Amino acid sequence: MTTDCLFCKIIRGELKTTFVYEDDKVIAFADIHPQAPTHFLIVPRQHISTLNDLVPNNFSIIAHMTQVAQQLASDYQHTEEGYRVVMNCNAAGGQSVFHIHMHLLAGRDLQWPPG
Ligand code: 5GP
Ligand code: ZN
Repeated sequence: MTTDCLFCKIIRGELKTTFVYEDDKVIAFADIHPQAPTHFLIVPRQHISTLNDLVPNNFSIIAHMTQVAQQLASDYQHTEEGYRVVMNCNAAGGQSVFHIHMHLLAGRDLQWPPG
């Protein structure tokens, strides 16, 4: 938990945000600037700044985030058509919020390479 982190504020309920999923380990909500018809962010309740800060005893959160992404893709009818999960790391990776999160993008034909 950090005072100034945007996603920690959302987790603490200080910024009004509708959760599409929550449990004791993660929350998920719609991205404020959606890049696809479905664009959710899956965020661990534990503050971890970047992928570089994962260590052996917390890597399991990534498996759980992936499980939630798979479930949300199913709940929003994207299982068969397909979807993308993305985690950006640091400046060159395009990370802008330094609390790790998984993007779930779906609902249009996503291009590759991603740019
Ligand atoms: P990143 O660029 O770090 O991979 O992703 C951060 C994401 O957070 C961006 O897609 C951005 O649109 C989203 N975002 C930034 N501020 C807010 C906010 O206040 N609420 C929500 N729901 N999403 C946000
Ligand atoms: Zn945080």
